[in-house]
Amino acid sequence: MSKYTDIREAAYQANMRLPRLGLVLFTFGNVSAADRDLGVFAIKPSGVPYEELTPDSMVIVDFDGKTVKGKLRPSSDTLTHAVLYKHWEKIGGIVHTHSTYATAWAQAQRDIPIFGTTHADHNTVDVPCAPPMNDDMIQGDYEYQTGFQIMNAFRDRGLSYEEVEMVLVGNHAPFTWGKTPDKAVYNSAVLESIAQMAYLTEQISSVAPRLKDSLIKKHYERKHGPNSYYGQ
Ligand SMILES: [Zn+2]
Repeated sequence: MSKYTDIREAAYQANMRLPRLGLVLFTFGNVSAADRDLGVFAIKPSGVPYEELTPDSMVIVDFDGKTVKGKLRPSSDTLTHAVLYKHWEKIGGIVHTHSTYATAWAQAQRDIPIFGTTHADHNTVDVPCAPPMNDDMIQGDYEYQTGFQIMNAFRDRGLSYEEVEMVLVGNHAPFTWGKTPDKAVYNSAVLESIAQMAYLTEQISSVAPRLKDSLIKKHYERKHGPNSYYGQ
């Protein structure tokens, strides 16, 4: 039993949920699980098919992206996870996928409009799409800079990462997070569903209006107000 057993197991279980939820193909996608006391996270190794993953194969990395323990190379997206853990101190799990509908919105470089109450139950704003990275960032340390691209988008829009636990990176794909890796995976599946519904909504009506403010407010209060009761 190592001190990393718990996060390795958590990261493994959360990673295995991605193909079951239809959120990844082949080796795409990765989940990490953080241990704030130890200052590290466990993340999927790079290029290993899901069916060959084991808890022990999860790589332990610190918040600067340095491998602390593990025989395999950590996911190529590791530095993005590290940057977010380092600066957003309350998150305990991060997911990255190229799930089809969310990625399509990212490729279109569009925020996902809040069209209905399914969306409002999870987010009371449009799902933000960070702009594609500039050439300096791309040619620099790309995965590291992706983390800053996400944080900059939240800062520029005045969004809280505790309030909005999902983002699209323009031309790339979604990242989600949460207090736990399970919550981050849940958010990833919710985002894919919201992205699909919003796409269909626009197909049915190109002039579909965004959700009314009164409904947004109602759903926000259901979740956050002093009398919150949401949790279906
Ligand atoms: Zn990616």
